[in-house]
Parts: sequence; C-alpha cells; structure tokens
Amino acid sequence: MKKNDRFVTEILDMSEDGAGIGRTDGYTWFIKDTVIGDRVEAGVMKMKKNYGFARMVRILEPSPFRIPERCPVARQCGGCQLQAMSYEEQLKFKERKIRNHLSRLGGIPEEEIPMEPVMGMEDPWRYRNKAQFPFGRNRNGEIVTGFYAGRTHSIIEQEDCLLGIEENKDILEIIRNFMKEYNIAPYDEAEHRGLVRHALIRKGFATGELMVCLVINGRNLPYREELTERLRKVPGMTSISLSLNMEKTNVIMGKEIVNLYGPGFITDYIGDVKYRISPLSFYQVNPVQTRKLYETALEFAGLEGGETVWDLYCGIGTISLFLAQKAGKVCGVEIVPQAIEDARQNARLNGMENVEFFVGKAEEVLPEQFETGHTRADVIVVDPPRKGCDEKCLETIVKMQPRRLVYISCDSATLGRDVNYLRKNGFEVKRVRGCDMFGWSTHVETVCLLQRT
Ligand code: SAH
Repeated sequence: MKKNDRFVTEILDMSEDGAGIGRTDGYTWFIKDTVIGDRVEAGVMKMKKNYGFARMVRILEPSPFRIPERCPVARQCGGCQLQAMSYEEQLKFKERKIRNHLSRLGGIPEEEIPMEPVMGMEDPWRYRNKAQFPFGRNRNGEIVTGFYAGRTHSIIEQEDCLLGIEENKDILEIIRNFMKEYNIAPYDEAEHRGLVRHALIRKGFATGELMVCLVINGRNLPYREELTERLRKVPGMTSISLSLNMEKTNVIMGKEIVNLYGPGFITDYIGDVKYRISPLSFYQVNPVQTRKLYETALEFAGLEGGETVWDLYCGIGTISLFLAQKAGKVCGVEIVPQAIEDARQNARLNGMENVEFFVGKAEEVLPEQFETGHTRADVIVVDPPRKGCDEKCLETIVKMQPRRLVYISCDSATLGRDVNYLRKNGFEVKRVRGCDMFGWSTHVETVCLLQRT
C-alpha cells in the first residue's frame, strides 16, 4: 500500500491518545476519529516499517459504542479525543489504560493488579471550573478566541465549550468587544507582537465566585478600568486581574499579577474544607470528582489520628488539609511559592494548626528534613505532575519506611515507572482505583496504595 490508497478495516483497539487501531495482514494502523468496534474505510497518510497512520474516510458499520459528537468542533479541537465514544466505554478504556501501564511498565502481573472500579462522573458535561482561552485573529482579521487544535497553535473558534461553564461565553464576548472597540490587538505568537494572549477564567463551583485573569504581552492594558467595569457586571464576578507575560514562550501565565478588582483570589469548598485560589495556583479542574479522589486518598491513607503525614506536590494544600482532618500532623511540600502562601492561608481559614508547609522541590525538601533528623513519616501522599516523581524523592520515601504510601497520579505511564522502582525496593501495590476527572479526553487520574511487604 502507499499514500492515499484506501482500505477497509475493523477497529480492534484504541491507542493511549485515543486513535482507533486496525490491522491489515498483520500491519497496524492508527486511525483518528474512529471508535473501537467501528468498521471503516480509511485512507493511507503515512507508513512506517511496522505501523502506519490513516484517516477515516467513512464509517461502513458503526460501533455499538459510537455516539454522535455533541460539539461542532470536536474533531479539530485538541481538547477532546473521545467525543464519539459512549461515556461508559470511555471509562472502560481508561481502566484498561491504567491496567496496561501497571503491568507493562510497573511489572505487576496483570491478574494480580488489585484494580477497583473506576469512579465515573454522574454528569460528564460542564464539569471544568477553569479554562484558558487563547486570543488571535481569523482569516478575515477578526479577533477570535477558542482552543488550540490538536498538536498546533492554530485557534479553533469556540466560546462555549461543553466541558466548561456557561459564563465563559459572556465573559469572552465582553473581552472581545472591548478589544475591538478600543483597538487592542490580540497577541501574535509568530511575530511576538500584540497585547492580549490568553484569558484565564475560573469558578468556585461551591461558592459561585468567578475569576478572570487576562494574560498580556506588556505591562499595562489601556482602558483597563472600562474592561473591569464591564466584567464586574457578570453575576458572581469576584476577582479581575492581569498576568504579565512578555516572554516568547508556550507557558501561558506570566509570573507577575496586577490586581484590577477584588481580593486577588476566589474561594471554593471541597467537602467541608474551604480553599482560596489565586490566578497562579494549581487547583484541580473538576471539583466534583476531586472530592471523590481526595476521599479515596484519605481512605487509602487509613489514618487513625496520631500519624505524621507528608503530602508531596501539595499545590495550595488541598490534600494536606483534607488529611489534616484525620491526622496528627501534616507536612506539605510544593515548588510554587504563591501556592504555599495560599496553602498557609487555607490552613488559617480552616483553623487547622496541625499543618506545616515547605516551599521547594519534593526531591530536595524531603531528604533534607529526613536526613537532618527533623522528621519521620507514617504515611506519605504524593501527587506529582505528569512527569512523575524524581528518583531522589522515591529513594528518600523508601528510606523513611512509611506504613502507607498513597500515590495519586495524572499520568499512569509515569505511575507505572515509579511503581516499578518502589516494587523493587520493598513496596507492594495493595489497591488501585481510577477516577475520571476529564471526561471525553483520554486522561485519567489514578489513586494507588502501596505498602511495605
Ligand atoms: N496535590 C495538589 C496539586 C497537584 S498538581 C492538588 O491536588 O491540588 C502537582 C503540583 O506539584 C503542582 O502544584 C506543581 O507546582 C508541583 N510541583 C511540580 N514539581 C514539583 C517538585 N519537584 N517538587 C514539589 N512540587 C512540585
């Protein structure tokens, strides 16, 4: 076969990034926009030695798991990969993904993985409390906003993403109209020119409080009082600010925040714990599922009251405070200084005195504290970013010999890698449970309990 040739195949499996997998004469094809169980006609795009990429030409027989895509730009937009797959089947896909990583990378025999049913969402739409919209221009030169297409930075126009809050649309319209009226240019990445880069919008689901932070390529936004005036009229608007980002970078937020209106943060609750969230702090995007995730982590931690607990990669202390309700003492470590400021504030806000926070890298703070004899740990909780834990961090955890280690992961591949290391160093996986925080995407969160053998 060669480029543009057509062939017919059945979709037998799905790749980790959500493409369908078909086979012809033992050769593997990755075909985007197909669903496991579809029979499709496909067109060859690119061929390698053992596998190739093809595009879906038409569906000959739809999979029983296929559903109509709700979003008009589902295929172009980089946000969703599984919009044509029923929600139930997505959960199965995610469970398989975790299982695969724990066996292939983690080295656990598949039948021995203590997998519990994945926690799905009751309503998988409009679950995100946060969105970052890039600004640009379309072919006619009009100011547009939406989301990046998969793998590129071309903007797919979409102001009412079905995963996000309904207010996004009104807020973006206000910003767009303001820019048009006052002749304020959107940022042009290629030329590194123009002012408005992104709008960050966040909502506290429990409180209804809204935050808008406009990321600009400059130190000032002309007529900013006017924009503030207009945004303030949106019901729930609590915090309006600017983030200054003059760098030539993919990183969305600039480090300097200029407050325009309100206290500089919004508040939200997860369970009974109250949190303050600033523009730069990490906060889980799906608060309903976050509660289930934290409750599972708490259950896995098996706290009885007097324990010393370390919460590594603690962000604004969300998990730390959750654990502190049941533990003797909790120590949190986080690399972003503003997040630790929020964490300390959050502890005060909830009247919790049995928590202490450290700014720094987990792989530096933990060894420092342990080796100088300042601490020990009954339970350690880690919730690292996608790249997983640094080996120095894992090495220290092994030395500290906690009774329980709860590993919360947003990328089961690096979880698999780290579990492999921990299993070689005396730990065993006792419980595993997936939690779906990101419906319609291929991502899944995993909670894993490890104990010493
Ligand atoms: N547990 C928190 C945050 C998890 S996200 C919550 O549930 O809300 C991961 C966090 O790890 C981010 O806040 C990020 O800033 C932080 N981080 C990244 N690398 C780190 C490192 N080497 N040491 C400590 N924290 C780190």
